[in-house]
Amino acid sequence: MLIRTDNHFHSTYSHDARSSLAAMINRQHAMGLEVVTSTEHFDADPSDGGFGFYSYEKVRDDIISLRKEFRIKILHGIEVTFQPKYLTGVEDFLSQNSFDLIIGAVHYIKGILIRHWAAAAGDGFTPYFDLMLELSLWGGMNVLGHLDYIKKYSSLYIESVYFGKIESILQNIIEKDIALGVNTSGYRQIPGEQYPSRKILAMYKDMGGRLISIGSDSHHLSQIGTGYGETAVLLKSLGFREHHFYVSGQPCSLVL
Ligand SMILES: [Zn+2]
Ligand SMILES: [Zn+2]
Repeated sequence: MLIRTDNHFHSTYSHDARSSLAAMINRQHAMGLEVVTSTEHFDADPSDGGFGFYSYEKVRDDIISLRKEFRIKILHGIEVTFQPKYLTGVEDFLSQNSFDLIIGAVHYIKGILIRHWAAAAGDGFTPYFDLMLELSLWGGMNVLGHLDYIKKYSSLYIESVYFGKIESILQNIIEKDIALGVNTSGYRQIPGEQYPSRKILAMYKDMGGRLISIGSDSHHLSQIGTGYGETAVLLKSLGFREHHFYVSGQPCSLVL
């Protein structure tokens, strides 16, 4: 397997996932992955279904015991939902716990779950990319998650309309040494391709973007590895020669 990491997945330590952490790791190990990073959800918004669900200590202790059981490098990350209104809650949580990798992600726009917001947005997705732009300026993360996630939720999305904003987002993360998250979950969803698109990945490469963090965003063990073959071929065709994982917030590279 060309892609040797899974830096984005959820287990039953996230409220919306269905396989235990041990079952996820067992499958990742069986598939030949070498480095995996647990990235459960953390939401500081009290209205979110996962609010208060995450236990740092339980995940940490489970990872410590699983490291003894499996010959695979297991790292402890987190996926935080970026909402300006609840940013203090996120930053307090991050300051109280230590992670190998932090993914920043947009799941809500103006307090509305992205799925519902997109359904009412018509063909105007500027507020989504404005929030992504704000996220790209936040210094609290290592990886920018699923940049063009909006394409999952609306057939009216035309990415070329937003290339200006997307370019600014990419410029910001390159300047801050934040990795671009390459998320293969789109292969099992409506888009039928990774987040972000080929065009956005090509822009990132042309702009000098180098750091990429690949993950399946699996919520069940059956989803692990989906789209990995296609994504590896695509990244190599665009000239990417390595991918990354994070240890204590520091990027480590692997050949692609
Ligand atoms: Zn996400
Ligand atoms: Zn996720």
